[in-house]
Amino acid sequence: MTSELQAMCGFGFPPKPYTQNANGCMNSVIKNSLKSDNQSKVDPFEFAKKLEKIVQQQEREVKMAFVGLGEYKVKEEYRHLLIPEDQFWRKNASQREAALQRLQAQPLRPRQPEDESAEKTLNNLSMSPEDSQIISIPYRILLDIFDKADDIRQNERNIVSVPGSDQSIYFVKDRCSLDSPRKVTCNPNTGLTKCDNKCVRWKGYKFCGHTVAVADKERCLTKFVEKFKKQGTTANLSQMSCANLPKNRGKKPQKSTQVRKGRCNIPPSVVTEYQEDSEQHQPCHLTFMAGLIKKCYGCQQNFSDKQRHPPHDLILKRYDHRVYNSPKSKTMRKTKTLQNTYFHLNVDCVRKKHPQFEFSTDVILHEEIKHQLSSQHVQLLESLGLDIDIEEV
Ligand SMILES: [Zn+2]
Ligand SMILES: [Zn+2]
Repeated sequence: MTSELQAMCGFGFPPKPYTQNANGCMNSVIKNSLKSDNQSKVDPFEFAKKLEKIVQQQEREVKMAFVGLGEYKVKEEYRHLLIPEDQFWRKNASQREAALQRLQAQPLRPRQPEDESAEKTLNNLSMSPEDSQIISIPYRILLDIFDKADDIRQNERNIVSVPGSDQSIYFVKDRCSLDSPRKVTCNPNTGLTKCDNKCVRWKGYKFCGHTVAVADKERCLTKFVEKFKKQGTTANLSQMSCANLPKNRGKKPQKSTQVRKGRCNIPPSVVTEYQEDSEQHQPCHLTFMAGLIKKCYGCQQNFSDKQRHPPHDLILKRYDHRVYNSPKSKTMRKTKTLQNTYFHLNVDCVRKKHPQFEFSTDVILHEEIKHQLSSQHVQLLESLGLDIDIEEV
């Protein structure tokens, strides 16, 4: 049951938390009594007879409690009705029954706090949780929020203004992480007060101990509370559960755990070796065209369809700090790590970037590529002046 509905039903204001504990407790009493008879299933007639016995037992226990006997203890609010044991036994049977009947006719009394500290008074705040009349937040949490605000207000040093700010921006002590305070902004004129996104309560309820404490310090707590109630926000559980989680949550630490088969995905043992060198000393590697490769880094032309079929599907690859046009800053940028750049299989394209390039000395042919070359490939390469020594089979 929501707290609004409870308040409407007349369960008091602010409504106390509603639980099914009493019903659950009665259910377990009945179950346990049936269990003690070692019967997992009973027919309805048997059950009714047993239930009658259980009810009688319970009534007897209640009566005995008022004499200070039995398993149950009388609650604080009914303690004055206790009958001393010696007085009780002095009565005759009908007098005893009459005395117990009177007890059972007692009206229900408001529950008294069992723990004194639960209802502790908040001395440092100008408003109590009851006075705030906020019902969109569960009462127990509202109490905790005001308790935390009270704790913060206890010491002036718990709220310090941010250096150099002429607005009301404060660092506020956070009980959970003392080394990183919460940042709270507050407009004393409108009462608009905000906490930062690391605050779980703020994310969930748009109301927290930090904002209450600052609004109280700025003497605009009433305005802040009124503003909050007008918003009519209810708790956002998903926001609350996502507070303070790392940004890349739910993502795999590596980009991909799949390994695709095919010649374009040769294990990069050679790559790391060359990547440790600076871009100045990079050779070109002969490689096959692959689907994702689009443009020649030298002439900036797209690779044609013809270049995707043998024997024209050989290109050159070089590790380099790729220069690109950053769409964000609209300036030319250079990648920090060495990346693959691809060139048409001709001297001119590579020389556009690296004027010193020579086919005969600067091209490396790796074993795994060599094994995949057809005789047409070899012919083509030899016509370009590349000396390929392939063992004839
Ligand atoms: Zn906060
Ligand atoms: Zn080119």
